[in-house]
Amino acid sequence: MGEVYTLPSEIARLIRSYRRRHKLVCPVCGQEFEGETGRKYCSRRCANRAASRGYRQRNLEKIRARQRERYHRLKASPTTGPGQAGPENGPPSDRP
Ligand SMILES: [Zn+2]
Repeated sequence: MGEVYTLPSEIARLIRSYRRRHKLVCPVCGQEFEGETGRKYCSRRCANRAASRGYRQRNLEKIRARQRERYHRLKASPTTGPGQAGPENGPPSDRP
């Protein structure tokens, strides 16, 4: 009777050696860091920054069009705005 099955510790070692750490360079900040295989950025902050940057680049036309539309709408109706005087300064009836 031989041991034909692989020991769990053997598997764990295999996995560990498979996803060992590499020296990588972050494409966002250019910093060298040690990361597992498949990791791209040195930190979550850089990953977020890269993601938001990509989003901006992809939706630049959309964002510009929206800004232009808002600008025209503001110009079209200059009478009604959010800067109206509210009832914050109540009546001075509580004064003696
Ligand atoms: Zn980075």
